[in-house]
Amino acid sequence: MGRITLNNVGKSFGAVEVIPPLDLTIEDGEFVVFVGPSGCGKSTLLRLIAGLEDVSGGQIRIDGADATGLPPARRGLAMVFQSYALYPHMSVRKNIAFPLRMAGMDKAEQDRRVAEAARVLNLTDYLDRRPGQLSGGQRQRVAIGRAIVREPAAFLFDEPLSNLDAALRVGMRLEISELHERLKTTMVYVTHDQVEAMTMADKIVVLNAGRIEQVGSPLDLYRRPRNVFVAGFIGSPR
Ligand code: ADP
Ligand code: MG
Repeated sequence: MGRITLNNVGKSFGAVEVIPPLDLTIEDGEFVVFVGPSGCGKSTLLRLIAGLEDVSGGQIRIDGADATGLPPARRGLAMVFQSYALYPHMSVRKNIAFPLRMAGMDKAEQDRRVAEAARVLNLTDYLDRRPGQLSGGQRQRVAIGRAIVREPAAFLFDEPLSNLDAALRVGMRLEISELHERLKTTMVYVTHDQVEAMTMADKIVVLNAGRIEQVGSPLDLYRRPRNVFVAGFIGSPR
């Protein structure tokens, strides 16, 4: 569970074509990073996968089924937002359980999933606190917990660490990589930070003005950048 395929997927806003039609396959369990300069279409591509934007053309499949017209809640994916999206007046427990409560899930099952997410994220001792009583890193973990409880086929991250300071960012990168090791769930991670891409990804998708310049492992891109843009962006010796 967690294979995502984009077939001829494109996006225009009005007359402006932000993403010319492209093909992309994300394999089950892969950690895929979309990287590229600001404004190149990373968020838009992720939002098309999430269903937060409608495609202008093409087809999106999730585990073989056509998901192109489905609303976000029916795609089985979970978007991880930055930690400031937490509800300050709710406990950590309620913040994590929020999507389950909205879905009307049975309370015992909610509790089971929250306890499991808290265990995985080392938040068990903090469930009764409010976000304001946590460190920045703990708050980011709560935001991830809110995605974990939905037991998604894939996690979608849009620059989740960009509002954290540099030291914390390095720690959170490791935590997210370790989480991927443990859960083995597909993760699609958007960043403009080359170091983040090179250190976290199984597969990197380099975007430039809405086009895919190259797809490959960090080592592939470093050793065999397809063009000057990729070489320059990834920092290859070319
Ligand atoms: P990135 O995440 O790589 O910084 P975005 O996907 O946010 O880039 O944006 C790609 C391009 O699409 C930008 O030129 C941006 O201005 C444009 N864009 C994004 N969302 C909208 C929108 N809702 N309406 C019009 N243009 C948009
Ligand atoms: Mg963006």
